Amino acid sequence: MKSSTIRFIVVLATISILGISITQIYWVKRAFGLKEAEFDRQVNTALFNVASQIFSLNNTPSPANNPVKQISTNYYVVMVNSDIDANLLEFLLRSEFEKRNIQADFEYGIYDCTHEKMVYGNYVKLSDKVSKREHNPNLPKWVNAGYYFGVQFPNREAQILNQMGIWSFSSAVLLIVIVFFGYTLFVILKQKRLSEIQKDFINNMTHEFKTPISTIAVSTEVLKDTNITQQPERLLQYATIIENENKRLKQHVERVLQMAKLDKEDVGLKKETVNLHEIIHEVVQSIDLALREKQGSIHLRLNASSANLQADRHHLTNVIFNLLDNAIKYCTNQPSITIQTELNGSNISLTVQDNGIGISDENKRRIFQKFYRVPTGNVHDVKGFGLGLHYVKQIVEAHRGRITVASDSGKGCAFTILLPIA
Ligand code: ADP
Repeated sequence: MKSSTIRFIVVLATISILGISITQIYWVKRAFGLKEAEFDRQVNTALFNVASQIFSLNNTPSPANNPVKQISTNYYVVMVNSDIDANLLEFLLRSEFEKRNIQADFEYGIYDCTHEKMVYGNYVKLSDKVSKREHNPNLPKWVNAGYYFGVQFPNREAQILNQMGIWSFSSAVLLIVIVFFGYTLFVILKQKRLSEIQKDFINNMTHEFKTPISTIAVSTEVLKDTNITQQPERLLQYATIIENENKRLKQHVERVLQMAKLDKEDVGLKKETVNLHEIIHEVVQSIDLALREKQGSIHLRLNASSANLQADRHHLTNVIFNLLDNAIKYCTNQPSITIQTELNGSNISLTVQDNGIGISDENKRRIFQKFYRVPTGNVHDVKGFGLGLHYVKQIVEAHRGRITVASDSGKGCAFTILLPIA
């Protein structure tokens, strides 16, 4: 899929999700407002009924104005103009609230005119049929100094939210949709990155194979010339070119095969006793041609007194080859490479130090990732697949070793491998 199409889909989907979320929030808020109004209405009616019953029980006339006043969102006061019996009040409140399906716990207090304070109160849990005196509520005093009682609903919001079952359900569903959408987006972008990496890899590979193939084709054309048998030096020169290009092709194939092998779960090490110094000498010899092409030099400081370890000869050879190959490749002037070994407790360390372009701190963490190549702004004068160091790390770790890199951008770098001897 084209990048622009993916971007378009992502933007469109994000706008839709945002639109749905905003609509949902709007409707939830509205539904909450309606439920609040309904709750207030029910409480007002219930308290009005309680007040009427108290008036008729005390034989006092009902006032002309509504005796119920809402002081704040969850606090109501009711004027009664006479003494109130606390138990009677609690009984009336309970039965009126139950009748109107008000299930929120409440606290009430009775105001005493003579002492000018709340004298009696209780916290009532509607789930408890029998009232328990849990604490004496400290309800706010009201400016009006007549007889009154106050009722407060500390969990009013929770109670209203409780009654919004369908809205809670649809909000939860929406949340799941958003999480799922986020995850899908993440997968799409990851797949996109993978497909870009794959495209880069195929491009790189085609380039890498094309050059030696065309060089071999040109050389064989020259060799087909009948006069060439009279010029043995030219014959040898072109035969050498073909040999070298063939070696290059073999290396490329080997590298892709290394990776294909690693993709299978088990690296399948064939461990035997190998001598690290011997392997280093072999690799240095095999890389000699590439080194001479750039007029470079290798300095050996093989200080480890014993270099025998249990390892897979083939893979270990590839590891050292990859490090040396990189040290030569990523050097813009004459490569000067130092290979050093040391015994380090129960480990042997191998350091390949070069004087190349170095690696920035930001890239140091990523160079071991599969297919990762340090971006050079589309000018890849140094060819590669971004597989070498990933392979090196996998193999070193399969040997229960570690690899680290130290580098200052522009001042070369040093790769150190630590391998257990036993
Ligand atoms: P490749 O060399 O095929 O691109 P590697 O996995 O071997 O892949 O290396 C990954 C990247 O790390 C390279 O593209 C290069 O940018 C950087 N790199 C590796 N070795 C060196 C080095 N010795 N000096 C500078 N950069 C290096």
